[in-house]
Amino acid sequence: MTDLTNPIYNDETAAREHLEAIRWVDGVSCPLCGGLDRVKALGGTSMGDGWYHCGDCRRKFTVRTGTIYERSHIPLYKWVLATHLMSASKKGMSAHQLHRMLGITYKSAWFMAMRIREAMRPLNSSEPMGGSGKVVEADETYIGGKETNKHVSKRKRGNLGGKGKEVAFALVERGGKVRSFHVADVTGKTLRPILVTQISRDTTLITDEAGQYRNVGKEFADHQKVNHGIDEYVRGEAHTNTVEGYFSILKRSINGTYHHVSSEHLKRYLGEFDFRYNTRASLNIDDNMRAIEAIKGAEGKRLTYRRTNQA
Ligand SMILES: [Zn+2]
Repeated sequence: MTDLTNPIYNDETAAREHLEAIRWVDGVSCPLCGGLDRVKALGGTSMGDGWYHCGDCRRKFTVRTGTIYERSHIPLYKWVLATHLMSASKKGMSAHQLHRMLGITYKSAWFMAMRIREAMRPLNSSEPMGGSGKVVEADETYIGGKETNKHVSKRKRGNLGGKGKEVAFALVERGGKVRSFHVADVTGKTLRPILVTQISRDTTLITDEAGQYRNVGKEFADHQKVNHGIDEYVRGEAHTNTVEGYFSILKRSINGTYHHVSSEHLKRYLGEFDFRYNTRASLNIDDNMRAIEAIKGAEGKRLTYRRTNQA
């Protein structure tokens, strides 16, 4: 359980020191030039607490500089609390919930939640998933619209990408991590580049029988296909229950917590759900550790966020 009386959730100095301790494990470094040696804390009441001066670039900074918190007037303890709430709740937190719990406007809560989702998104996923002896399940699902709960393969192939429906494509390594993508359609042309760049070729790939996987499947060590349509028995390893379980949490949360996710922002929600799955309790990560991971991710995301927001 979370101890919400911890000062990091209600005291600005405690929250700032918490963020500083996570960001600057080996001492304060300048986020503007990378300088380490000539950084000194600035005292004085006129500046406010938490300011540092860098003798290398002669600029001032705080723990907010270069992070998702930088351009915000929201107190840091509210950021710490919001990050914790979003990290700890299995189904996510809507902007409306944050707005009420944090006593900030709905608009502020919405931007805050979007920035925290950015912090949860991995900077890069360089290592391929899977490998020799490993199993990766791949599947697609529809988000939004009336057919949200139907499995793709149970619907008419000609009826893809209808109004209000977005396609999420996910790869889940058994016993490991997930990577989800918001894709334009479920053609082989769209899915193949994701499969071959994200998954090691010596992996056993498991998908449904859909045609778009047939050719790309041959590029992997083994490709097993599951037929959803005829309620096939789960044949040993040949199932996609893991990725379907992942989609089931994702959809219940989007329907129950968020109600609607726009096409523009779906990738951020997918990032949030990937993050929680990839830091789940069965990997021995608790709520506090997960929140710390999200705080670590707050650095280096500011520009990305602004760029996408400007588009
Ligand atoms: Zn500097």
